[in-house]
Amino acid sequence: MTIAYVLPLIGSSRWGSHGQAVSERRRSRASVLIRASAVDDKRTHGDFSLYNTMTGKKEVFDRTVHEDGVVRFYSCGPTVYDSAHVGNFRAFLTYDVLKRWLRYRGFDVSHVMNLTDVDDKIIKRVLREGSTLEEITEKYSKLFFDDLSLLNVIPADKYPRATDHIEDIVDLIEGLKAKGAAYETSGSTYFKVDSFSDYGKLVKLEKRESGARRTEANDTDEYDKSDARDFALWKAYKDEDGEVKWNSALGVGRPGWHIECSCMAIKYLGPQIDIHGGGIDLVFPHHENEIAQSEAYSGKEFARFWVHNGFVNIGGEKMSKSLGNFRTLGDVVKKPDDARAFRYLVVSSQYRSTLNFTEDVLKAARNTIKRLDSLRKRLADVQKEERTVDMQASSEIESIVDTAKSAFVAAMNDDLNTPRAVAALFEMMSKVGKLLKAEKLDSAHAKMVDDCIVDFDRVLGVFYEVPTVGNVSDEDGTDGGDQVIPEALQELLLQRTEARKSKDFSLADQIRDQIAAEGYQIKDSPNGAVLIKI
Ligand SMILES: [Zn+2]
Repeated sequence: MTIAYVLPLIGSSRWGSHGQAVSERRRSRASVLIRASAVDDKRTHGDFSLYNTMTGKKEVFDRTVHEDGVVRFYSCGPTVYDSAHVGNFRAFLTYDVLKRWLRYRGFDVSHVMNLTDVDDKIIKRVLREGSTLEEITEKYSKLFFDDLSLLNVIPADKYPRATDHIEDIVDLIEGLKAKGAAYETSGSTYFKVDSFSDYGKLVKLEKRESGARRTEANDTDEYDKSDARDFALWKAYKDEDGEVKWNSALGVGRPGWHIECSCMAIKYLGPQIDIHGGGIDLVFPHHENEIAQSEAYSGKEFARFWVHNGFVNIGGEKMSKSLGNFRTLGDVVKKPDDARAFRYLVVSSQYRSTLNFTEDVLKAARNTIKRLDSLRKRLADVQKEERTVDMQASSEIESIVDTAKSAFVAAMNDDLNTPRAVAALFEMMSKVGKLLKAEKLDSAHAKMVDDCIVDFDRVLGVFYEVPTVGNVSDEDGTDGGDQVIPEALQELLLQRTEARKSKDFSLADQIRDQIAAEGYQIKDSPNGAVLIKI
């Protein structure tokens, strides 16, 4: 069954609530009696330089746009029509590290990430599978959040969905029309690029050039536009959209993708934000269009910093859905420690460089995690012993820890140079390893070293208990090793679990036989039923 989406015509504007996520955050914090000061601790941490795509150079992030000291941070979220791939997770992990580093420095961060839950690709899938928009987007949103928790990503303050904000989007488009920055033709509404003189300032393209590139990326049916560079804010309903449509003041149709991000950022963070993040492939046209929409609407600079992460390559090519060379997190993470290894692999590479993903680099990351765990275990063992060291050894250890700390902070301050930051950690580990071997580390200093590792981990986030979600199991033999269980069988397994829950045992047995016919056996594990190849 499919559902038609019908909204009443827009009445009064509800755009008085700009920066909602920030004000909610303030309210919740106000109830805390002892409030941590939300200011950057420059005195102990030095200057933090961050590469700004807008200016093409590293700039000091020394203040927030608003006086409250809250960093307003927006990053583009996933389109929830399929499992996100390893390349997508690089973006989510990059912005997790950035957020952690800002917090480490004492900033309060308000982070919003949208979920695109209406778009051409989703509609195609809805029609192909004969399901509803909700069924598809709910399934993949859940998978997305499971994957984020597997990777120890600090959740954003808000994950607004496009379909929950149609009225806000329509209001914003109406606002742009009123300012002469948008026009309607044949039921669609377009942004009038010519009305925004700064268009192209992020990607630094000449008008002619951006027009040419935009035309390439265009939908072929957008022939009614008055300028090839103009882009859709509201797309008129077409038969191919099936039941996915809204009846609004702009006519029957659905919102475009670019307007969604401007809307969510303005609604939840306000018209002026500190940092906007996304993959490097989003610079043009997506982010350029976000700037045009947001700044034409508010008349103010939208984002102070534009931060972009590099691609993930596989076999020398960019990993992407369209090339079909992608790996989902489920393909890579089979055991809990794989999740930590994957996180380590991504966060220890410099976010702007290309990450070459191979089985070997993942294996190396697994070994690194093992080494780190074993060192921490040895440190924990020493802490239980009653051992003291002489003054000379004591000052040597203190100096090792101090050196590591300042090297770590200096590296992170240099545009999140995580390769150098983890090098500082390993240098400390290697020196401490020697001291451990020579029994020159006492319990107090073992604690000091471990506290330092924990402190670095506030940024790296690699020491955590991996939650049991999805197909990840820590039981040898029950996770199917490296075998990939076909998605259709996973679906059947879910149906069988549902059937058993509703006590329809004959259906459950039928499904079990169907799965067995495909060569798999169902085995119960503490994390629920799993499939084992017979
Ligand atoms: Zn976006």
